[in-house]
Amino acid sequence: MRAFVAEKTEDGVTRGLREDFELDGEGDVVVDVEYSSVNYKDGLATIAKGQVARISPLVPGIDLAGVTADGRAVLAHGYDLGVSHHGGYAEQARVPSQWLVPLPEGLSARQAMALGTAGYTAARCVIALEAAGLKPGDGPVLVTGASGGVGSTAVDILAARGYEVVASSGKDPDWLRSLGAAEVISREEAAGDASRPMEKSRWAGAVDCVGGATLAGVVRSLQYGAAVTACGNTGGIKLDTTVLPFILRGVSLLGVDSVQTPIEARRETWARLATDLRPPHLDDTITREIALDELETALDAVLKGELQGRTIVKVG
Ligand code: NDP
Repeated sequence: MRAFVAEKTEDGVTRGLREDFELDGEGDVVVDVEYSSVNYKDGLATIAKGQVARISPLVPGIDLAGVTADGRAVLAHGYDLGVSHHGGYAEQARVPSQWLVPLPEGLSARQAMALGTAGYTAARCVIALEAAGLKPGDGPVLVTGASGGVGSTAVDILAARGYEVVASSGKDPDWLRSLGAAEVISREEAAGDASRPMEKSRWAGAVDCVGGATLAGVVRSLQYGAAVTACGNTGGIKLDTTVLPFILRGVSLLGVDSVQTPIEARRETWARLATDLRPPHLDDTITREIALDELETALDAVLKGELQGRTIVKVG
């Protein structure tokens, strides 16, 4: 079958399309893959220093949507998919049934992958912030790395729910405004002044996709009792902060993981992505479609932080 494969060599990693790849690996269900998508982690899985791929050769693709042999429309993401288990960049995938999420009513396979791991993670962030008490009308909610997959879907979901969204981005502010951002600030403004232990109380909540100095800046600028979800590290894995925002403003740092979420919570989140957490600009503004043979360029672009919105891959 046709598959995009990454394989370790002595010099690094070779990547490319193969026409005759044989599907192997564990899993009781074979899925005819219709769509997959491009996530930052997929980029990492195809480079030597990415430290993400656990097998070689590997079919990357940490998410997929398609149809099982008995005709069920399903999606899968996370767990070992595209990391230590062949993923979505092939015409077929063999996966354990306990990883499968039935495609929620009202979502096509294409829309499911337009959301993909990124949209799912954005939804988990919004759910976590609201569970911590955030509600529309509380004040500005910051989204960092806003033009990326997680960031843009978070902007769209939050704006549609009535939040005043401030997007921090190094890219096109008009595009982010078209998703519903009330204001767009620079990456530098979001990162603030690292020499100060606390800064002006500003954000009623925040979704951080960047980590590093940006997340530290967000923590220093949260309003009293506010929370930030940490889900990404495109700006670095170090977090340099003092305890002062935590002990003087009672702020919270909420970790969000999409990989190991138990399957029940995962299925519930997907049902909400098809209904009350559905990003309204998913089909028109956010999503771009590519073919398997355009993957290499897209994977390079995601690693450079150059992609805007979501890039989906038409597989079958
Ligand atoms: P994207 O590449 O689509 O978006 C990342 C965005 O981060 C870029 O578009 C850019 O936004 C910003 N950015 C890139 N480089 C830098 C930099 N050096 N400094 C500051 N900002 C930068 O990735 P995704 O949206 O798919 O993922 C975002 C992050 O979340 C990644 O780290 C990813 O690994 C992580 N993630 C974690 C998950 C989890 O389970 N916890 C699940 C999914 C993703 P802009 O130009 O607008 O500033």
